[in-house]
Amino acid sequence: MSHTAELIAVGTELLLGNIANTNAQTLSQSLSALGINVFWHTVVGDNPDRLKDALDIARHRADILITTGGLGPTYDDLTKQTICAAFQKPLVLHPDILEDIRTFYESALHVPMPENNTQQAELPQGCTVFDNPVGTAPGCAFESEGVHVLMLPGPPHEMETMLRRHVEPYLRKLSHEVIVSQDIMTFGMGESSVDELLHEKMAHMTNPTLATYAKPCEVRLRATAKAATEDQARAMLAPVREMVCKTLGDVVYGADVAGLAECCYARLLRRNMTLATAESCTGGLVAEKLTAIPGASSVYRGGVVSYWTSVKGDVLHVPQEILDTHGPVSQECARAMAEGVRAITGADLGVSVTGAAGPSPDERGVPVGIVYVGLATPEGTFCRSLDMGRRRRDRIQGLAANHAFDVVRRYLTGLPVEHV
Ligand code: ATP
Repeated sequence: MSHTAELIAVGTELLLGNIANTNAQTLSQSLSALGINVFWHTVVGDNPDRLKDALDIARHRADILITTGGLGPTYDDLTKQTICAAFQKPLVLHPDILEDIRTFYESALHVPMPENNTQQAELPQGCTVFDNPVGTAPGCAFESEGVHVLMLPGPPHEMETMLRRHVEPYLRKLSHEVIVSQDIMTFGMGESSVDELLHEKMAHMTNPTLATYAKPCEVRLRATAKAATEDQARAMLAPVREMVCKTLGDVVYGADVAGLAECCYARLLRRNMTLATAESCTGGLVAEKLTAIPGASSVYRGGVVSYWTSVKGDVLHVPQEILDTHGPVSQECARAMAEGVRAITGADLGVSVTGAAGPSPDERGVPVGIVYVGLATPEGTFCRSLDMGRRRRDRIQGLAANHAFDVVRRYLTGLPVEHV
């Protein structure tokens, strides 16, 4: 039988927008991996009447209720009392837990335990106790009329520690399925084109499922399978990945890879090759994405942000004639920038980006969205010409950086680089 869960976060600061409900995100990820459907996230303030209302609704539409927050010792921490009243469970004092809390105060905090902490040692009769090694409030779980109620502390590190140590094993016993997802990464085709090619197939899939989701500068597909074991679920995903690759072709650059930069890094490493960057309109974004990868120094030699035209000439040795005749935003300049950075760094490959990111056309009247990506290689120099149209400046920069990686990844895969 598959389970349905509702997460109830208790805390007025969540409703005021002072903090984000990250506990819901952490719990949802964990529950979906366990094969438990999370159909509702509820947030309620530190108010017993409204919490009771939320519990009354939740217990009729879900069979696993998980609350976070409101387990502390202060007057507004009312989760346990309200839940116990709603499910008619008396609270029982656990002397051993009280002793643990007292010891935590004395040995970790070096202060005597305030007396109002005693109520943290009171738990619903007959519950499973989840100890809290990183805080004072223990969590707990009980079952009542077919509904499992779990109470967890609010502070995210306490909640997460308890989740891994106690909640996941507890829930695993209730669930007989696991859900495994895999992200299939594409670059070079818009979301609507991807959708058009896959829509028919996606609409008929139930297990595994396939869905597109567009990131700011690329499109990803998420394939999700439910099965009795992780291995079985993974085996169900393999044909989906094959179908997507066959349908979309070489715009698919990988599965479960973090992004294009990581894909290039892995391919450069495999080929034992190095890269250098010469960037104008992306202002170092390509370099930043690469150097965010631990170990990038084994493939990345360095780069030049040649923002001024004179830097393109003086540092990258772009010939003055190219700058005068074609301008800094031109195919010729992109090629010369890539060749220049390859020569001065001694890298195997030099990639360059020059373009008009807007919001106004560049000083020579090149329209916003015109971008050139150059690639200098041992076999010669290539250039991809792009017209991204009038988009936001950061989108043009992000997209241009991704094109730089795409040019490198296509070259390293033996695919034509100039056209997507
Ligand atoms: P404590 O013993 O610390 O009082 P508690 O279980 O009573 O724990 P709360 O008082 O409700 O928890 O929350 C403590 C802190 O935990 C909040 O101030 C907030 O920073 C964080 N927190 C609470 N709920 C969430 C949530 N859903 N997502 C992220 N952070 C949260």
